[in-house]
Amino acid sequence: MSSEGGAFADYGLRDTGYGIWDIVPDMALPRSLSLDTALRRSGVEVEGGSRYASVVVRPVPGWLERVWGSGVVAMALPRVVFVSAATFDRILDGDASTLLIHESAHVDQWRDHGIVRFLTRYVGDYLRGRAVGLPHRPAYRAIRFEREATERAERR
Ligand SMILES: [Zn+2]
Repeated sequence: MSSEGGAFADYGLRDTGYGIWDIVPDMALPRSLSLDTALRRSGVEVEGGSRYASVVVRPVPGWLERVWGSGVVAMALPRVVFVSAATFDRILDGDASTLLIHESAHVDQWRDHGIVRFLTRYVGDYLRGRAVGLPHRPAYRAIRFEREATERAERR
């Protein structure tokens, strides 16, 4: 159990070393945290203060997970980043910096371009790739917003 904040900081509780969370172990881990906290937990220095403090990272709800394609581990929306259960565990362990930088790039893209332009460009790029005969994965990787996010994550 860490006294570095994390689970306790997210709930505004102080780590006393022993408490209700030890009696109810299944509730000891937070079900969500801010993208800002997630990035710092993974050792990523966040420029611009708490630019990601209002974005929530949480495990994907069951209904959405059922429509996710296989191999999807995360999806960034304007104010929330949904991640698979396994990925959420990695984030709590502070072991997901590359993924978090990638998703934070998407959060910036939503902000910079707006919902309509983001979706138009994202889906348009994908459909153009498919229209010229690319299979799903290459068409997905050719999406400009995906390339930009991947490049940002790789630069680190
Ligand atoms: Zn992406």
